[in-house]
Order: sequence, then C-alpha cells, then structure tokens
Amino acid sequence: MLKIFLSRVLHSLIIIFAFEGCAQDNQMDTKEEKFIQRREQMVERQIEARGIENKAVIQAMMSVPRHRFVPQDELSRAYSDEPLSIGEGQTISQPYIVAFMTEQLQIDADDNVLEIGTGSGYQAAVLAEIADSVYTIEIIPELAQKAGKLLKELEYQNIVVKQGDGYHGWPEKAPFDAIIVTAAPPRIPQTLLEQLKIGGRMVLPVGEYTQELVVVDKSENGLNMQSILPVRFVPMTGEVQENE
Ligand code: SAH
Repeated sequence: MLKIFLSRVLHSLIIIFAFEGCAQDNQMDTKEEKFIQRREQMVERQIEARGIENKAVIQAMMSVPRHRFVPQDELSRAYSDEPLSIGEGQTISQPYIVAFMTEQLQIDADDNVLEIGTGSGYQAAVLAEIADSVYTIEIIPELAQKAGKLLKELEYQNIVVKQGDGYHGWPEKAPFDAIIVTAAPPRIPQTLLEQLKIGGRMVLPVGEYTQELVVVDKSENGLNMQSILPVRFVPMTGEVQENE
C-alpha cells in the first residue's frame, strides 16, 4: 500500500517538475519571440524605411540579437531608435548608424575586416554575419573581456577581440578589405590608412567638437575621402590624443 502511495507521489512530482520545466521553456520562447518581433520592426521602420537596401546588411541586422549586447537595465530599449549606454562611459550605436556604416563598407563574403572600438561587440557581430573574418580592438579592458565572452557564447567563430589601443591597427592581420572605426579621432590615423588594401574602404567618424562620418576609398591612384553625414560618437582615446 505504502509502496503504491509513494510511487504515486513520485509520479505526480515528476509530472509537476516536467510541467514546470515546460512552462519555463515556454516563457523563454515567448520572450525570445517578442525580441524577434521587435527586431523585425526595428529593421522595417528604422533600417529599410530610411533607405538601407543592401540585402546582406538587412539580413545581418535581422540575425544579430541586439538585446544580448545591452545591459540588463536597458533591455526594454534594446530595439529602440537610439544609442544606449553600455557602461564605462561608452555607448552602443543607434541601430540605423550600425546599418548605415556597414552598408557604406560594401563588404563581401570573403572580406577581412578590422574594427576599432569593440564596445559591446554588437557592430562586430553584424560585420561577422557578412564578412569572412573580423578583427576588433577595444581599449577598455572590462569591455574587451565582456564582449569577447559574449561573442564566444553566441558562437561567432570568425571574430577575434583584442584589448589594446586601436590607433596602431592590427599589423599582423593587415591588410584589410574594410576598416570601421566607432570612436572619433580628431584626424584620420595614418597607420589605419596604411593597413587598408588597395580597393578597400574605411568608414569612420572624424572630428573633435563637430564630427563627420567619412568614407575613404583606397585605389591605385591614392585616397578619395568623402564626408557623408554629421554624427556624434565617443572620442577615440589613447595615443591619438597625445599625437594629434
Ligand atoms: N562598436 C561598438 C560601439 C563602440 S563605442 C558597439 O557596437 O557596441 C566606442 C568604443 O571605442 C568604446 O568602447 C571605447 O572604449 C572604444 N575606444 C575608444 N578609443 C579607442 C582606441 N584608441 N582603441 C580601441 N578602442 C577605443
């Protein structure tokens, strides 16, 4: 009798736990679905509606879970039309700016890309969805470490994060098909221009008080530079501030 009773209790407990597990999974699923929905809206209203046309860029913006790159207390604003604080006085750029700069780089699937200013790692993930390899440098150790850990967790195998001053680029991995800088130097660092391939492109904010987004094309005939948009990024720190 006792045996039957105990086996019933055990059975019920198993059902309860199984059910609890299911309920938790379901909760997670609906939460993830909500984020996917918000991401679709972000792409539609902020990216496509403003003229981003490159399919690979749109696909990348749709694929990268931006909510994983923002701090817990900013979660509800992960997909809104604004930059957000990521700690250490730094920011993750507005989604449109990330898409716009990525489109300007005209990246191909076999490209080797350099990013200066890893921050949260979000821009690096967007680049890695399109390019063959992404090398990214972050000057603040805590951010470099956090981004590296998250990108590993999200299984981005084609991104390498390094802590250091991006002013010198990454000579061992140069030349690059594309270089993106997400912190503003007062002038374009010469070393980065040297690490760009002939036929390559660089996109970066330049300036101290007022900044312009500059696109650099490197060809056999030299460099062609164009200012395309007034922007506001955090300043590039480190050696650039001593040298310029
Ligand atoms: N691309 C980031 C946003 C970065 S904000 C993202 O997607 O989240 C700019 C970042 O550049 C900051 O994290 C800042 O610490 C970093 N930075 C500033 N100067 C730098 C330098 N000289 N070398 C490398 N990183 C730098």
